[in-house]
Amino acid sequence: MKIPFIDLHPQQALLRKETAAALAALNRRGDFILGQDEKEFETEFGRYIGSPHAVGLNSGTDALFLSLKAMGIGPGDEVIVPAFTFIATSNAVAYCGAKPVFCDIDPETFCMRAEDARKVMTRRTKAVIPVHLFGQCCDMDALRALCAPRKIRIIEDACQAHGAAFKGAKAGAMGDCGCFSFYPTKNLGGWGDGGMVVTADAKLHKDLCVLRDCGRSSRYVHSTVGYNSRLDSCQAAVLRLKLKRLDAWNRRRQAIARSYDTLLGKIEGVTTPKTQRGSTHVYHVYAIKTRDRDGLAAFLNAEGIGTMINYPIPLHLQEAYSHLGYHSGDLPAAESVCGEILSLPMHPFLTDAQVRVICARIRRYLKK
Ligand SMILES: *Cc1c(COP(=O)(O)O)cnc(C)c1O
Repeated sequence: MKIPFIDLHPQQALLRKETAAALAALNRRGDFILGQDEKEFETEFGRYIGSPHAVGLNSGTDALFLSLKAMGIGPGDEVIVPAFTFIATSNAVAYCGAKPVFCDIDPETFCMRAEDARKVMTRRTKAVIPVHLFGQCCDMDALRALCAPRKIRIIEDACQAHGAAFKGAKAGAMGDCGCFSFYPTKNLGGWGDGGMVVTADAKLHKDLCVLRDCGRSSRYVHSTVGYNSRLDSCQAAVLRLKLKRLDAWNRRRQAIARSYDTLLGKIEGVTTPKTQRGSTHVYHVYAIKTRDRDGLAAFLNAEGIGTMINYPIPLHLQEAYSHLGYHSGDLPAAESVCGEILSLPMHPFLTDAQVRVICARIRRYLKK
């Protein structure tokens, strides 16, 4: 049995008729940029997250970048990001001319903690970007308690956490703003690139609308050097249909995670992921830790089971950031997790039988 790491085909098949109808309606209207689907999707997604404002953008990377821009963050400023995340998080900081300052993570939940951020905070720290990694929220109470008195902004990177929650509040609704990606393989993914910022801050919302549309403050007036970073209507039309299924798909991901937890929990040499108290995990990624990670990955690959490593190299040791002068040993938890982590197949259409086969193969390898 071949089990791919991710399979989008069942999702596409399920929605084939509805997406065709939605795209046909868009074709008739012809409002391809900032049209009806885009506006409706902003309203629906904002309501889903519980945020009064939402701005559709062309990617999650731009959601982060334009949020920093709109907050006026630039050269001379520092922004704290975890060393264990996708590189887009820190790239967004670098695009503004600000300095990404990497912090360590909790090796059990893979999220950054307030105490990790506090260790690297300086007078120049203007913002912190907690990443709700793999679909689990950081402890936002502790982060807010740290940042609010110091007037440090919080930009949530919720690109892997559509529908995740912490103590009842949704990912993206707890910081100054929340950034989302609709890259096709995310829990909510389009047919190409897409992104969104949600916020309760009316001024931030207004500035983001200007920045994404060539700096346009009214039809012929450009109040700033803006960008072209709009969410297109085709993506919005597809995403509107998928948003209606997001909760059901996330529940299925949670059920799969519970099966993995049960079946793998008994195998010596495997550490299953931890969920922190108060957290609703939506398992964008289900990642185990094991000493012989590369051996296990090669074995599973030979058995036809797809795996991924999210992520093998911590950001402070990436070549792109060598100019910042970090060394191995600087952020030990992130570095140790990078050496042991392995992501297993996870998507809402993975079957119970497939989960059992994956776990049986892992057991067979580790028993040897
Ligand atoms: C996917 C992702 C991004 C970037 O989103 P794009 O839409 O691909 O630009 C940023 N941060 C994290 C944590 C991500 O997983």
